[in-house]
Amino acid sequence: MEQTFDVLIAGAGYAGAVCARSLAEGGKRVLVLERRGHVGGNAYDCPDEAGVLIHQYGPHIFHTNDSRVFAWLSRFTQWRDYQHRVVADIPDEKGGRMRYPVPFNLTSLETAFGPEEGKRLGDKLIAAYGAEKKVTILELRQNPDSEISALADYVYEHVFVHYTMKQWGQKPEDIDPNTTARVPVFLSRDDRYFQDACQGMPLEGYTPMFQKMLDHPNIKVELGVDALERLDLSGDVLKVDGVPFEGEVIYTGQADELFRFQYGPLPYRTLDFRFETLEKDDFQGYGTVNYTVDQDYTRITEFKHLTGQVLPGKTTIVKEYSRAYGGILGEIPYYAIINPENNALYGQYKALADRFPNLHLLGRLAEYKYYNMDAIAGRALDLAETLLAK
Ligand code: FAD
Ligand code: UDP
Repeated sequence: MEQTFDVLIAGAGYAGAVCARSLAEGGKRVLVLERRGHVGGNAYDCPDEAGVLIHQYGPHIFHTNDSRVFAWLSRFTQWRDYQHRVVADIPDEKGGRMRYPVPFNLTSLETAFGPEEGKRLGDKLIAAYGAEKKVTILELRQNPDSEISALADYVYEHVFVHYTMKQWGQKPEDIDPNTTARVPVFLSRDDRYFQDACQGMPLEGYTPMFQKMLDHPNIKVELGVDALERLDLSGDVLKVDGVPFEGEVIYTGQADELFRFQYGPLPYRTLDFRFETLEKDDFQGYGTVNYTVDQDYTRITEFKHLTGQVLPGKTTIVKEYSRAYGGILGEIPYYAIINPENNALYGQYKALADRFPNLHLLGRLAEYKYYNMDAIAGRALDLAETLLAK
């Protein structure tokens, strides 16, 4: 088959689409192969049967301090100003339920312990760590002061341990510390989930943003095509459609799958999403409510709060259930399970990839990392720049 492209990209999520556009603007002819029937990767959104704009692969809120990434993406979308706020919903001592902000902050303290005691404890934490400081739960648990350590135990028990067991099947101290550090205790009254300078949702949704990004005369997108059927890495040179290919190949799928699991599968967590449409305007008053103590699901997201969509009398929510990824057909590997053993296994696959100077692993799956959208967009821009400078 004749090769009419300079670059082959597997995957049309952030990693693939951002690279594709950047390289296309640099004059490269880019072929993007996407296994799914749509672009956008896990950020894909679409209207459901009730007409509610949903995120099919879980709630995605854009936030960044990287002005380069924000400016670049802003060429393909306008933004709706949205500051994500999350509450923990937990059983209280009177048999009812209570809610307070997550990340656990000064307001959470006062809700949990009452205004006076909460204020006193808050002042004590501020004296120990400083106002507006973020302290990870693992760090807080190291504090030798008996009152602070009792408070750390409270937060551990009510916010972290059960949620983390549900999400990862492991305790907070047994998972990568960077993961729980994403949601530190925050000695502030700022009850937003993120403090980044730029936050929001693409005004028309993520999918139209990706469609605009990929709409370029130098880009051809083929949907429903598995790149593994076109790529051959079995010999010394990389082949595409059976013919040696000297252009660049950017692979954004799983590294273990790319090499036919020859060292065994990399472990992941997968999620089951249960969507429900309810005949009401508003179900929970928040974009996301975390169930940090009970329930089998980790969190419920109500999309209308994220997107600002006005649709009286109807709302769609999604409950997230996490479990081990088994690698069976239709299951999606959402989260790499980062630990030294798994990183070492990933390193073996990376070494196989490094045998081909024109093969680049990029993205959450291909790099076995916990990237947010802005981080992977930034890496994609960097890679494209490096390749164009070659
Ligand atoms: P993906 O989006 O997974 O895209 C990879 C694409 O490659 C997929 O479309 C896949 O079908 C395709 N592919 C794989 N193998 C092949 C193949 N062999 N051939 C062809 N195509 C292939 N980040 C945030 O910043 N904010 C959030 O609020 C947020 N929420 C999240 C919620 C959940 C539940 C999850 C799981 C992630 C969330 N993220 C969030 C992270 C965000 O999803 C990732 O940063 C982003 O999707 C990574 O982009 P990617 O291109 O690396 O991977
Ligand atoms: N976490 C928790 N309780 C919460 C929120 C988060 O224990 O209410 C922990 C949990 O281990 C989770 C991690 O912090 O996996 C990171 O949370 P984040 O909301 O960033 O996860 P994501 O949205 O990426 O799934």
